[in-house]
Amino acid sequence: MKIAIGIDIGATNTKIILATEEGRVLQDLQIRTLSAARSGPDRVDELLIKNVRDFLNDEKTKAAISGADIVGIGIGVAGLIDRKNGKIIKSPNIASVDGLPIREIFEKEFSLPVVIENDANAYAYGEKWVGAGMQKNNFIVLTLGTGLGGGHIYNGELYEGPFEIGHVIIEPKGRFCPCGSHGCLESYASGRAIIDRAITSLESGVKSSLADCCDGNYYKITPEIVFHKALDGDNLSREIFREVGHYLGIGISNMINIFSLEAVIIGGGLIGAWDLFIEELTKEAFKRSFKPYVSNIEILKSTMAKDAGSIGAAGLLFRKLSVNRGVLN
Ligand SMILES: [Zn+2]
Repeated sequence: MKIAIGIDIGATNTKIILATEEGRVLQDLQIRTLSAARSGPDRVDELLIKNVRDFLNDEKTKAAISGADIVGIGIGVAGLIDRKNGKIIKSPNIASVDGLPIREIFEKEFSLPVVIENDANAYAYGEKWVGAGMQKNNFIVLTLGTGLGGGHIYNGELYEGPFEIGHVIIEPKGRFCPCGSHGCLESYASGRAIIDRAITSLESGVKSSLADCCDGNYYKITPEIVFHKALDGDNLSREIFREVGHYLGIGISNMINIFSLEAVIIGGGLIGAWDLFIEELTKEAFKRSFKPYVSNIEILKSTMAKDAGSIGAAGLLFRKLSVNRGVLN
């Protein structure tokens, strides 16, 4: 049996898995990314390597992979990457990894082939490999989490581009975005946007049971709190999620009009709130798209939630090995 190590380095958490060639996860581990990053600028990769080593040496892991061959490592990382040279160019949310030659470091350390990819692209590939997009060849994936990422599967293959759907402009004079622009989709449809919208509304005096949370300090509101208040029937919280759907729908309609899509798959950490935004999203997306394009498009919920990134990273490693084999033969 051949297995690959899949690593998804996110802004908050890093997930490490072992996956078979069929995309079955044998063992997994989640660690905090920030605790690694805080330990010093030149320690991030070392701590990641230590965690991978500890994971591989764990008795449970050893039992799960007994007799199997580890054939390589796939790494997805939140940030801009240089595929050719295997480097992280810039990661806005992870301290001290900019310029890190992560592929070379892992190749040397583990004597295995390594492939790196942007985390949202790896997530999209995971959906194609073993997720909601298995039977589709042309679709986009949106990852709704702290930020808003995305990837594009075109003719069955991952489009190796930036696909920064979180930074398409949906309000020309809209909210400031940390990328430096204004009115980006991520500023209206992401965990960060949900928090901002809740706090701004409470500051302006909107009545909501959100005001009672966090011992009265509503600056500590999280998207999860807004989600639970929405389920309890709080109007502001429900409106915030409806608004997320509204803006996602606008963003998606732009993608439908550009690409030839069979599906739009939505995943990420906030996918549990699906029922609170999907109606508005679908209405808005289809209302604004060219009608001949929408008749066959399905809007699908990710079946893999948070794990698509690490599974997709492992899948990309297997993909790379099979392509290389083809060339050599
Ligand atoms: Zn932006």
